[in-house]
Amino acid sequence: MVLGEHPYPYWDDLMYFVAYPLVFAGLIMISRGGDQRDRSGLIDAAIIAAGVGLVYWVFVIQPTLFDLSTPLIERLVTVGYPTVDVFMCAVVTRLISRPGARVTSLWLLTVGSALNFVGDVAWSLIDTDASAGGLVDASFLLAYLMWAGAGLHPSMAGIGRRSGTRPRFGRGRLLLLGGITMTVPAVLFLQGARGEAVNWPAIGIGAVVLFVLVLIRLGGFVGQTQRQAAELEDLAMRDDLTGLANRRLFELRLRAAAGAGVPQVCLLDLNGFKQINDRHGHAVGDHLLIAVSARLSTELHGEGLLARMGGDEFALLLTEATAAQGEAVVDRLWSALRRPFEVDGHELLVGAAIGIADGADPVEVLRRADVAMYAAKVSQVPFRRYAVDLDDRADEEARLGAEMRAALDAGQFHLVYQPIVALPGGEIRSVESLIRWGTRSPADFIPVAERNGLIVELGEWILRSACAQFVAWQAASGTTAPERISVNVSARQLAEPGFADLVAEVLAAAAMPPGRLIVEVTETAVFGGGAAVRAVEELHRLGVRIALDDFGTGHSSLGLLQTVPVDILKVDKSFVDNLALAGRHAVIATALIQVSDGLGLTAVAEGVETAEQAASLYELGYRLAQGYHFGRPVSQPAFDAVEVAAR
Ligand code: C2E
Ligand code: CA
Ligand code: CA
Repeated sequence: MVLGEHPYPYWDDLMYFVAYPLVFAGLIMISRGGDQRDRSGLIDAAIIAAGVGLVYWVFVIQPTLFDLSTPLIERLVTVGYPTVDVFMCAVVTRLISRPGARVTSLWLLTVGSALNFVGDVAWSLIDTDASAGGLVDASFLLAYLMWAGAGLHPSMAGIGRRSGTRPRFGRGRLLLLGGITMTVPAVLFLQGARGEAVNWPAIGIGAVVLFVLVLIRLGGFVGQTQRQAAELEDLAMRDDLTGLANRRLFELRLRAAAGAGVPQVCLLDLNGFKQINDRHGHAVGDHLLIAVSARLSTELHGEGLLARMGGDEFALLLTEATAAQGEAVVDRLWSALRRPFEVDGHELLVGAAIGIADGADPVEVLRRADVAMYAAKVSQVPFRRYAVDLDDRADEEARLGAEMRAALDAGQFHLVYQPIVALPGGEIRSVESLIRWGTRSPADFIPVAERNGLIVELGEWILRSACAQFVAWQAASGTTAPERISVNVSARQLAEPGFADLVAEVLAAAAMPPGRLIVEVTETAVFGGGAAVRAVEELHRLGVRIALDDFGTGHSSLGLLQTVPVDILKVDKSFVDNLALAGRHAVIATALIQVSDGLGLTAVAEGVETAEQAASLYELGYRLAQGYHFGRPVSQPAFDAVEVAAR
């Protein structure tokens, strides 16, 4: 321009046109990505191109192209620019409508393209006199600068990168697409208002194309919405951790199944899961749950609906099984869970209690399965089928639990003390504290307190009372008072966080040296390992003595001696009872005192009722004994009197 007039089109136009394929290639390479989700982006771009194209066609291209007063080549070139622009618009729209970071390069590219577009429109419409032509040229120059900037900007590297999010059909897009479809009536109005002949073929074709494209787009949108709704529903019905059905889905299916027949419902609760969680941490617990659900699923081969009901509780719905078939499945599941699990390098043994029930009332059948599962847990059998008497038992237990709570508040519990004496003389060495509540046996109510958790509070009361009594005896009787006191501690208490700290605090409050306290734990309490064993170790470090109660009756008595720090073995009454029988019955009592001596532990023979038993035990090597023969549990043992009586 600066150099004055030259023919149009000129060589520079050729250069411009040669540049466009390169620009396109670049843009398309960036915006490409044969992703299914991009299909809607492509359609959006096509809609915009169709709208812009229609306007262009009617107002720019057609008037120019059919203006026979100018040479064909000039007309073609003039029309070429806006045509290319329409496609450019489409590609850029597609690029910015894609999900992904809106980096600087992308903005430069977009604004550059917009400027180029504006410039081309102006170029086509305005008679390029000197002043307007300068502005138009400036917009072209600026556009090229921006394109160059986009290419050179470091953010260019990330421009093609897509983010994982799904493109949303947002309000902005709806407005844009709606606005584009308005081009059809807008063109009509404009042409009508200007008194021009309405270009009906172009407007008609444009309207049809836009209509079809928008229809396709909306169809896709509806499909996407339906897919998302289905996904959402699936999410709401699945357990996050294991991917199994969750309680909601289970109850839904149960309701449907109960409406159609009599389904079998199994509830499954893992044994010792809490201890594993406490001992190895929640990550291991989670992985175990995943492993358990995988094993159960494999075992079921798609039979029934397996669900995780929460925590370590699973449920199985068998819609068309008979009672016998249901039990066969449950038996298989139970056996499958007995095999150890290899989780994060730990070999974990879990096992489960399973309750099974059937019925046509979905709420009632779940409740029954729960009662049966609870009964299985308590009676330590693999699984139980619901029966009415289980309900009675559950009721009774609930009543007993409530009564115990009230009794604890009303101070109705008290402790009695049974002497543990030296053989053969019968001098009192220590006492064992035993709880009393009216005429009820602790063997009946202690397990209930363990199950409902009251044992934690009751146990603390027992510990404080026993220690206070011990200190009082020390003060009153001096050297004739027992040297130590034994307190029974249940599994639940041991597993309670901070149990050792509680013991330390109680000892300090009573001003009692830790060595004077013996904590009696049962084999089953420490068998599972975990928090209970850690508590025992802490107690041992404090200086408290550890007695293993009912020794010899558990499943791994000898093994425990390697894993749990034990000072005293309380040899169970059953072995003492057998002593009187002829034959091999003394074998176990003999073996146990040998183990005890061999490991440098102290053995106490429990439940000694006769002088003969006491004599046999002494002969076998026992030096400590406890039992009715030496003294029943009483509130205030007469220490001197017991000594005299034994002689
Ligand atoms: P255990 O710890 O093995 O207690 C010994 C049980 O044997 C006591 O029964 C005691 O009275 C009884 N016994 C002692 N000598 C003889 C005898 O010569 N012959 C017979 N037949 N029995 C004898 P008890 O007091 O009924 O306690 C039963 C169980 O209840 C206890 O067994 C213990 O496991 C639990 N228990 C009792 N008191 C407590 C307590 O304070 N805390 C906890 N956690 N459990 C307790
Ligand atoms: Ca005991
Ligand atoms: Ca015992």
